[in-house]
Amino acid sequence: MDMKKRKISILGSTGSIGTQALEVIEKLQDKFEIIALAGGKNVELLEKQARKFKPKYICVGENSYSKLEISGIKTLYGQEGLEEICSNKENDIILVAVSGKIGLKPTLKAIENNITVALANKETLVMAGDIVMKKAKDCNVKIIPVDSEHCAIHQCIKDISQVEKLIITASGGPFLNKTTEDMKRATVEQALAHPRWNMGRKITVDSATLMNKGLEIIEAHHLFNMPYDKIDVVVHPQSIVHSAIEYKDGSVIAQLGLPSMHIPIQYAISYPERFEGIKSKSFSFADIARLDFEKPDFDKFPSLKMAYQVGKLGGSATVCLNAANEEAVFAFLNGKIRLYDIYQIVENMLDRHNVIYSLDIDEIFEIDKEIRLKTQEYIRNELVEKV
Ligand code: MG
Repeated sequence: MDMKKRKISILGSTGSIGTQALEVIEKLQDKFEIIALAGGKNVELLEKQARKFKPKYICVGENSYSKLEISGIKTLYGQEGLEEICSNKENDIILVAVSGKIGLKPTLKAIENNITVALANKETLVMAGDIVMKKAKDCNVKIIPVDSEHCAIHQCIKDISQVEKLIITASGGPFLNKTTEDMKRATVEQALAHPRWNMGRKITVDSATLMNKGLEIIEAHHLFNMPYDKIDVVVHPQSIVHSAIEYKDGSVIAQLGLPSMHIPIQYAISYPERFEGIKSKSFSFADIARLDFEKPDFDKFPSLKMAYQVGKLGGSATVCLNAANEEAVFAFLNGKIRLYDIYQIVENMLDRHNVIYSLDIDEIFEIDKEIRLKTQEYIRNELVEKV
């Protein structure tokens, strides 16, 4: 039997996905060997992780150039460090779990170097899905989704050509049973109180506005090469059915499980193998008792309509959606705007944006930067004094 350990690097090891990935790996110590751990601002946690897991390399975030020296471990820095990790062919797989646009270039580097990517960073596909998926195809590199919905679909699909449509589930977030008026009055604390999933702050706000689901529609379009009118969203508050597919013959296959990110993370980094995982308890239909489904409210959550429109437009439209939304979410988290302003800001930026096609990576970053500055300016001039 081949007992060779799978060599893995984790970009974003100190974040929500990264720390859970290390919990999975700690349980599967005989299956994985860590080549590199890259953290962001939390140098203290990165040091703790490095001393425990003893990788060959660590990478410290761009804005925290504090000296981190551990004997026997080489320290890398910033974006260059991430790209150096992704060029190291020693890796069998790289878990890209950094948040935001920082994940894009390292993902492309990993693909160029024929390293399998476990992708937890949806911005990579929302910003540059065409480029990333084409490169993955050209280099014959697998991209395994960590995002629970896409991971579910990945598990359901045997032959994509036989699939009629994808059905993405949405928990509905903390405002599912609240009115639009409640949502307009929402505090940061209320928006961050997600009923089912424990995640980072940015994605939790996106879950409250359902923009996360919007971004996931675009992510699914790229990952599975599926037209937008064959991607449905259904609200499923229990978060037990993580997504489903309908085959052309009418058969529906869904993936179920208790809502824990450990499961999709472990699936993605272990694929195509399956190992015994971290389980709080075994799955029981009887304990769950009921599963509810309902249509999403497109009026209360305009993000879904926006995502379909923008996705169909393609080109720089999705770059604009992503950048404007992220800046708006930061402004909300910093108490500068109201939750519902996020929609208005994104809509405004999209209205003013002239879509450009056939972009290369540098042009995408250029547009991303431009939209962010415009969004910040709009927030400063139009919204801040009104709060
Ligand atoms: Mg998700």
